[in-house]
Amino acid sequence: MSSAKTIRGQTGDWEIVIGMEVHCQVLSNAKLFSGASAAFGAEPNQHVSFVDAAMPGMLPVINRFCVEQAIKTGLGLKAKINRVSVFDRKNYFYPDLPPGYQISQYKQPIVGEGIVTIDLPGGETREVGIERLHLEQDAGKSLHDQHADYTFVDLNRAGVALMEIVTKPDMRSAEEAAAFLRKLRAIVRYLGTCDGNMDEGSMRADVNVSVRKPGAPYGTRCEIKNVNSMRFVAQAVEYEARRQVDIIEGGGAVKQETRLFDSRNGETRSMRSKEEAHDYRYFPDPDLLPLEIGQDWIDRIARSLPELPDEKKARFMRDFGISAYDAGVLVAERELADYFEEMARAADPKVAANWLNNEVLGRLNRDGLTIAQVPVSASANASILAMIADGTISGKIAKDLLDILWSEGGDPRDIVEKRGLRQVTDMSAIEKAVDAVIAANPDKVEEVKKKPKLAGWFTGQVMKATGGKANPSAVNAILKSRLNLPDDV
Ligand code: ADP
Ligand code: MG
Repeated sequence: MSSAKTIRGQTGDWEIVIGMEVHCQVLSNAKLFSGASAAFGAEPNQHVSFVDAAMPGMLPVINRFCVEQAIKTGLGLKAKINRVSVFDRKNYFYPDLPPGYQISQYKQPIVGEGIVTIDLPGGETREVGIERLHLEQDAGKSLHDQHADYTFVDLNRAGVALMEIVTKPDMRSAEEAAAFLRKLRAIVRYLGTCDGNMDEGSMRADVNVSVRKPGAPYGTRCEIKNVNSMRFVAQAVEYEARRQVDIIEGGGAVKQETRLFDSRNGETRSMRSKEEAHDYRYFPDPDLLPLEIGQDWIDRIARSLPELPDEKKARFMRDFGISAYDAGVLVAERELADYFEEMARAADPKVAANWLNNEVLGRLNRDGLTIAQVPVSASANASILAMIADGTISGKIAKDLLDILWSEGGDPRDIVEKRGLRQVTDMSAIEKAVDAVIAANPDKVEEVKKKPKLAGWFTGQVMKATGGKANPSAVNAILKSRLNLPDDV
């Protein structure tokens, strides 16, 4: 992924401008205007009330919990909550939209301007402006692959509550776009307002991209619909920006249009042009009163907010003295942050952060697991670190021990005793091993006298002979005296 703020064309550098519209499915048992279940994965048309199916005379009733979730999200985005907002009908015809309109919010959304701070490599941060957040209904789903001649429709999703979160055109690279989505996902997951599950479509992004010469007014944008992973967002931005630069430098003009991202080849292609865009004929839904929210309710929700990633990150840096980068990685998931905190209370926090980032996250990555599925507890890891710190085991053995716990489970201290993994600090045992290696390698002994740097080879041999259990600093000290090496080796 490129972190470059500009891309190179034949006529010089171009700046990429990105704004996003992200749909987040509200975490709620019931739909936005009906009592039907909003659960994912049921058999088709099992979660459809008369309201969702738009039977004549059915009336929508707002789900108070979904409103609370939207307010909570707005507060998490440091945004203004609008005390009055209005639901509008957005009219269009589609087979998976029984009423012929979607209830959405247009001119008066529930949440106004806010800010998301994104984390960039090297611990750098940047702010991305939020334009608005509004509540709307999801549509159903057309199934084209069930029958040779017919399209089927599944209305389970019809009427499920979505939050559409719109950013200002504040992002300037593929990396920033991906970092924004990552941070937004972390915030809604911390808040418990959206599960952020991109594979199941509970979070999907429309990515608006334009290019301009640095300092010039914004160029014409294209909107890439329904991109469903951080990696695809980055790929779509890179491809689209390059495509637009090539058009402009070839003497053409970018046409404002909606495009699709094809993840198989990393390309975007035209879906419909601005001319074909719908006229939605928005008007306030006469079945719903304007939504009025009391300040006391907003205040109550504000007091109930959990500690969010940015605050947690600042606290970890302050209280545990870890770097901005480490803290940023550790707060990305709430479970990971809790896991770290438990370790950091029992062990040296910096050592714990390193161990977690390298050893634990490395193994999770390798096995395709999330932190929620980690097979070794935080306290077991803290025991490992305690045993390194007091010299019971070497750093090398510690990693082997983690591997054993990872695949077999068990108690770290028991395993060390039962399998004889204790570090050998018994000087006479180490001396014996050193002498054996020296006696077996007279030629190397000659060499090391000329090239003291070769002492490392002897250390390696002794560690090998002791199964990694010798205390390395004891080995070095004994080697130095036996081989008459200078102190600074
Ligand atoms: P519309 O009213 O047509 O939906 P908006 O002004 O609401 O357009 O913008 C929609 C999205 O497009 C927002 O996320 C915004 O940041 C982004 N956007 C607007 N102009 C540009 C531009 N020139 N380049 C990239 N993104 C843009
Ligand atoms: Mg818009």
